Amino acid sequence: MASVGVGQVPLLDIRRQEKPIQEELQAAVRGVLESGQYVLGREIEKLEETLAEYSRAACGVACASGSESLLMALMACDVGPGDEVIVPSFTFFATASAVSRLGAVPVFADILPDTWNLDPEDVARKITPRTKAVIPVHLFGLAADMDSLNALAAEHGLAMIEDAAQSIGAEYFPPKTGKSSRVGSLGHIGCFSFYPTKNLGACGDGGALTTNDEKLAEKLRLLRNHGMQPRYYHQIVGLNGRLDAFQGAVLNVKFRYLDTWTAARQANALRYRELFRAAELEEFVRLPFYPKTGRHVWNQYSICVPEGRRDGLRQFLTEKNIGTEIYYPRGLHEQECFAKLPEAEPLPVTDSLTKQVLALPIFPGMTETEQDYVVEMIREFFRL
Ligand SMILES: *Cc1c(COP(=O)(O)O)cnc(C)c1O
Repeated sequence: MASVGVGQVPLLDIRRQEKPIQEELQAAVRGVLESGQYVLGREIEKLEETLAEYSRAACGVACASGSESLLMALMACDVGPGDEVIVPSFTFFATASAVSRLGAVPVFADILPDTWNLDPEDVARKITPRTKAVIPVHLFGLAADMDSLNALAAEHGLAMIEDAAQSIGAEYFPPKTGKSSRVGSLGHIGCFSFYPTKNLGACGDGGALTTNDEKLAEKLRLLRNHGMQPRYYHQIVGLNGRLDAFQGAVLNVKFRYLDTWTAARQANALRYRELFRAAELEEFVRLPFYPKTGRHVWNQYSICVPEGRRDGLRQFLTEKNIGTEIYYPRGLHEQECFAKLPEAEPLPVTDSLTKQVLALPIFPGMTETEQDYVVEMIREFFRL
């Protein structure tokens, strides 16, 4: 029996992932303590250079969190009251809240039923003379259809802000040029999160922006520090969006392991597909989209379970000590805080997915025995 001796399979085990590099992390943190420089500084500059190079963008700007990066990106693009910004509804809250925080209106567009990323046709339908920007989310580690979205943005003069919080290192394969490029370099500004559950996680909060436009990078740096340049002279109204040196030091260590961790996630995703096929589970659960081109970095591995059975399966797996999560149980267009927005048109793909998705453990360091057990227990639930 595969179930013997497995114990608990968590959705994510950060300690397991950090254990082999514990000493390096401690040395990095000690180095910051000894330097006495705690905010911005050398570690942050190094992080910004590494991220820009990794994302194949010209400039990197670190900031306090992924949420803050979205806010700063919109501020840099002069989004404000009366503007509309098109965003998916099937995403984490911060994608839309940044828009609201600036007095602008998030306009929700539906997603494609296979990739779960923004549907360019629905985005096109939602463009009005007030539309100022589009924020595609590269959901769960898979790049959105940037060629189609960029064409719309160019046609209507919109700012293109990528929410790459879940997808550092993901590659988009543009069918026209056939030359892969990385998220964060595909629009005007890319937004990243280093929240601990992301593929590159800090030991706390953290975020960053990328851009190919030096002027935008300069404005982002200014915004990050209260629009202050020189000291105590404020050119624009910014905020405190700075990142501390401890997070920079930790991220600089972890960055060296990111490709190994991503490869482990990819191997787990491929192995899930083999296991689900071997268990003949494919008529009971729909597997996530596996792109034939580009690079999926698998921040999450979500399956679709027929409506009405998802919550039962989740309960069953919880009883079997398997960690799962629902990203996302409710679309943003259905959230209480957005009830006063103009009535959104129906988003049928979003609405049906919220009732079907279930994220399974895929973290680097997950063992084959654990993965076998997860699939075996799903099989048991469907009583095969
Ligand atoms: C995590 C996340 C954010 C916010 O990042 P924080 O660092 O937690 O503020 C924004 N958008 C998406 C899609 C995310 O997954």
